[in-house]
Amino acid sequence: MPYCPQCLTEYEAGVETCADCGVPLVEGNPLFCPKCEEPVAENDTFCDHCGVLLLEEDDEKRPECAVHPDRPAIGGCIVCGKPVCEECANEVEGKFFCDDDRHLDVHQDYLLVFRTSAIYEAEMVRANLESAGLDVQVFDQHGHIYFVDIGEMARVNVMVRKDQYDQAREIIASILSSPGTDEGEERGEGEEESGERP
Ligand SMILES: [Zn+2]
Ligand SMILES: [Zn+2]
Ligand SMILES: [Zn+2]
Ligand SMILES: [Zn+2]
Repeated sequence: MPYCPQCLTEYEAGVETCADCGVPLVEGNPLFCPKCEEPVAENDTFCDHCGVLLLEEDDEKRPECAVHPDRPAIGGCIVCGKPVCEECANEVEGKFFCDDDRHLDVHQDYLLVFRTSAIYEAEMVRANLESAGLDVQVFDQHGHIYFVDIGEMARVNVMVRKDQYDQAREIIASILSSPGTDEGEERGEGEEESGERP
């Protein structure tokens, strides 16, 4: 049965998106990270919450460190997804970050609001959030050479400032719940206010 990786609600087969969280459902039974005990998806390389490597040590898909291609990664930056080895890992409160100090700040100030493996979907979400005046950061694993092997499993993380999270969630939920939203609908609302009435 598919379930929501965020709230762990189980859904009937055929449902694709969690009605509450607006995130894509994943197949199988809920799994938990051995390190932080937060829910993880079956085919995740790293835990979304703490960044620890979820694959077995001898798994072929185990990525190498982004800086040291001869060393296996022990985790991935929870902001940008970059794989880090023992030496490169910047572990803060049990969470993995890469060597980019800004990513720790991003983690403190921003929340992950949407994640997808489809770049166009992330761009659509970013465009909608930005047009609502939100502060958006997008981290795309597709651009990283070390994720070439996992191809379509590479993720795009869309993050927004913490204080704008609820607003962003609403916007995303409305995009995802109205298939075929192109233009039109979103535009309608804003104009009502300013439009003159006959
Ligand atoms: Zn959910
Ligand atoms: Zn974890
Ligand atoms: Zn990073
Ligand atoms: Zn390294």
